[in-house]
Amino acid sequence: MGQLQANGKEVVHEEEGNIVVINTCGFINNAKEESINTILEYVGKKEDGLIDKVFVTGCLSERYKPDLQKEIPDVDEYFGTSDLPKLLKVLGADYKHELLGERLTTTPKNYAYLKIAEGCDRPCSFCAIPIMRGGHRSTPIERLVVEAEKLAAKGVKELILIAQDLTYYGLDLYKERKLADLLEALVKVDGIEWIRLHYAFPTGFPMDVLKVMREEPKICKYIDIPLQHISDNVLRSMRRGTTKAKTTRLLREFRNAVPEMAIRTTLIVGYPGETEEDFEELKAWVSEMRFDRLGCFTYSHEENTHAYQLVDDIPEKVKQQRAQEIMELQAGISWELNQEKVGKIVTCMIDRKEGNYFVGRTEYDSPDVDNETLIDAAKYYLPVGEFVEVKIMETGDFDLFGAPLDSSHE
Ligand code: SF4
Repeated sequence: MGQLQANGKEVVHEEEGNIVVINTCGFINNAKEESINTILEYVGKKEDGLIDKVFVTGCLSERYKPDLQKEIPDVDEYFGTSDLPKLLKVLGADYKHELLGERLTTTPKNYAYLKIAEGCDRPCSFCAIPIMRGGHRSTPIERLVVEAEKLAAKGVKELILIAQDLTYYGLDLYKERKLADLLEALVKVDGIEWIRLHYAFPTGFPMDVLKVMREEPKICKYIDIPLQHISDNVLRSMRRGTTKAKTTRLLREFRNAVPEMAIRTTLIVGYPGETEEDFEELKAWVSEMRFDRLGCFTYSHEENTHAYQLVDDIPEKVKQQRAQEIMELQAGISWELNQEKVGKIVTCMIDRKEGNYFVGRTEYDSPDVDNETLIDAAKYYLPVGEFVEVKIMETGDFDLFGAPLDSSHE
């Protein structure tokens, strides 16, 4: 979008223009369905003469281009994940190398995602991402610093670091893990106040990151570490390169090094061959570990992955039931953890006003996926995009309700 804008094109996100570019996801069934429905919706609009052209890019078209061309031929052109220059060309724009890091973000002004690497070298059996995104390529530290500076100049205060695998950062480029060095470089960027870590892989986690997190206030005491399962049988078949004992030890080390750290994870239930015992073991472990945040997905059987050779033997109903059980268990844990926050004072980033509330987040919460802190907009006026000190008054299972400390907000 930054490239198009620099070429003098008017670009809008999720609003309609005469040319529509759909960026698709092809990761699991639900995402594929959503992408296909969106393509069909816009092809329909094109047929009705409401828009002139529809282009499709992203992971779904990387993975299934020939099928899509055959099944939905009314799309003007399909592009893969590395076809950006070609896509820009059909949109009448030139790919300008010097614009790397120049972005037009689609998130609220106060935060932005910073992609620090592309692709993945791990062999996880269930995962189609390496097929679509290729091997791991880290972006050099100095380029990320430039991108962060440009984002900060536009008012971004929080950087959310993402990659398919944050843990691997640097190994390809520098021949050693460099996430801690990257963090030390990013904290020096003026205007950036929070830096958050998503998608760390448990095997080979760079422990020097914990020291930076403990000592550097700009690094949110937060980590998202998708663990997928805990039964050794399932972990082995998933080819995750770790065990229950090693994972448990790692989480204990996190909590010892940075006691306040909020740990987020995601799990997969209904993986081929997951027995009732495996599932019970997972539930018991979720109860024991008391994750601050947790998401649970049902297994999706994906062509060309290693696990595709296995039999997808858990009925859909059982998968759903298991996911629901985990989420109910987590709701109770989350409620208990929230009770400990009542009466505490937290710094909140105010993301938006929605209905009767200002919606804020603490450093322990990431946008869209985690808890929110709601502040009554009938009683208080808060500056959106700014930090505000908030006292937590009450909580639900997930969200917190608070009031600003400073009476000038009344
Ligand atoms: S680390 Fe993540 S992206 Fe890479 S193969 Fe495993 S699940 Fe997929």
